[in-house]
Parts: sequence; C-alpha cells; structure tokens
Amino acid sequence: MTIAVYPGSFDPVTHGHLDIIRRASVIFDKVIVAVYDRPEKKLLFSTEERVKLARQATVKLSNVQIQSYSGLTVDFARKVGAQVMVRGLRMSSDFEREFEMAMMNKKLASDLELVCFMASLQYQFLSSALLKEVAQLGGCFEDLVPLHVATALKEKFANPSIHPK
Ligand code: ADP
Repeated sequence: MTIAVYPGSFDPVTHGHLDIIRRASVIFDKVIVAVYDRPEKKLLFSTEERVKLARQATVKLSNVQIQSYSGLTVDFARKVGAQVMVRGLRMSSDFEREFEMAMMNKKLASDLELVCFMASLQYQFLSSALLKEVAQLGGCFEDLVPLHVATALKEKFANPSIHPK
C-alpha cells in the first residue's frame, strides 16, 4: 500500500490544492493532507480551522485524510508510514524553493520519494496568499475555492478580531 503525504499551510485550502489532492488520490492508495501548524507565514486561519476546511472539501474522497502536524515534515511522513511526499508546482514561483526543500528532505529521509504534480493551467497563479489579499479587498474570488471556504473567508474579514495572529 503506497501512502503519500501532501504537506502545506492550506491557509485556506483552494481549488489549486484540491486539484493536486484529487490527482494524487487516483495514483496513491492513501493521501494524507498534512496541515503544518506553524509555517513561517502570517496565518489567517487557526490550525483547527484549516484542518476543518480541508476536511469538508475532501469528504467525498474516501482515501484522503486530513491531519495536522508540527516539527519536521519528514518525521511526520515516517510516523504515518508514508513512502511518498506530494507537492504542487506552479510555473514560476515554486521550483527553486521546492528543489531546495527536496534536497534537504532527501538528506534527512533518503527513503522518502518526492512526487511533484504540475499545477493545472487554470490554477497556475492561484496562491492562498493572493487569495486572502483579494478577499480582504472585496474582490471576486468565489470561483477559486469551495463554497464553505469562501464563506469562512468572508466571515474572517467581516470580523477581524477572530484572526489567530
Ligand atoms: P500556498 O503557496 O498557496 O500558501 P501551501 O503552503 O498551502 O500553499 O502549499 C502546499 C503545496 O501546494 C505546495 O506544494 C504548493 O506548491 C502547492 N500549491 C499551492 N497552490 C497551488 C496551486 N494553485 N496549484 C498547484 N499546487 C499548489
């Protein structure tokens, strides 16, 4: 049984992430979406909220699980018995950083194989960061996320006191 972990901040999960999750779920027996609890980024949603939003978005995918983790991704991958780490690659922004992380992860866990999925054309320029900026400024973003995520974003920006950081 091949288990893949797909790590990230998912702050919040977007159609870009979901496209990668769906494609990975076709190839691997089990996909564990690993929500990193303390990324070096300013977060809008708490870990529990990010997990809940991702879970709701993937309920129909029976071989997909959502779990949060802290510490090294390779340690989490080992703990859950994953042989593969999945990442998504957008055209211009991701390659160098992903390459750097892949080399470091290979040094830390040589048996963990990295599989990168090219982002689909329509999601090449979609990032959670840009999405949050557009949502905050009142732009149209509803087609980039599932409905429950759009609702959660609107609620956050309508009530800034509930931001975790
Ligand atoms: P973001 O850069 O959007 O904050 P995350 O840290 O949550 O994303 O990213 C987790 C993984 O998902 C990374 O491998 C990232 O490259 C990938 N990813 C993010 N957005 C997309 C997208 N629109 N299409 C494909 N992959 C994506």
